[in-house]
Amino acid sequence: MKHELPNLAYSYDSLEPYIDATTMNIHHSKHHAAYVNNLNAALEAHPDLQERSVEELLTSLDKLPDIVYWAVRNNGGGHYNHSIFWSVIGPHKNVSEPTGELAQKLGEKYNSFDYFKEAFGKAALTRFGSGWAWLVLDKNGSLDIVSTANQDNPISDGLKPILGLDVWEHAYYLKYTNRRADYISAWWNIVDWEAVSKRYESLK
Ligand code: MN
Repeated sequence: MKHELPNLAYSYDSLEPYIDATTMNIHHSKHHAAYVNNLNAALEAHPDLQERSVEELLTSLDKLPDIVYWAVRNNGGGHYNHSIFWSVIGPHKNVSEPTGELAQKLGEKYNSFDYFKEAFGKAALTRFGSGWAWLVLDKNGSLDIVSTANQDNPISDGLKPILGLDVWEHAYYLKYTNRRADYISAWWNIVDWEAVSKRYESLK
């Protein structure tokens, strides 16, 4: 089984002006594609590992042979992280907040949606170097905010990622240069809360 670059459900220019078309094009067709290609290349000599899904690989990293460990952790993580990322964003809609049980649980945990955004944004802003901010379900089924370095995914720590924000410079530098905070603020406009709520329901 070869891992494949997923198609996007929207066009590269449809997240404008929040994320520009050039960034989207390079991010998906070059960066994400490279993670997929590098993952497949790393597994070429390991037919047994080719049978495993990316989730299976990332939840049992410690069982991998040393020779493929970092290639799978970095590129498998890169593939999985971006697949989640594309699925929780989309063209700007008028619905800019979660609904249903996710809204209720966020309210219980963070008092208000604005406090949640502030806490999540802080995790994204303070991630040193390259990495991600995540809203996850922890081992007890409670919501939590974490950040990961490089292309690590919370799934490797036994957490379930609901929403992820890429804060690698390749995700924003063309338009926002060093202003990561502005990219984070803009990004909220393209979060697809319907998709995030569905993801929450499927993982809880
Ligand atoms: Mn990225």
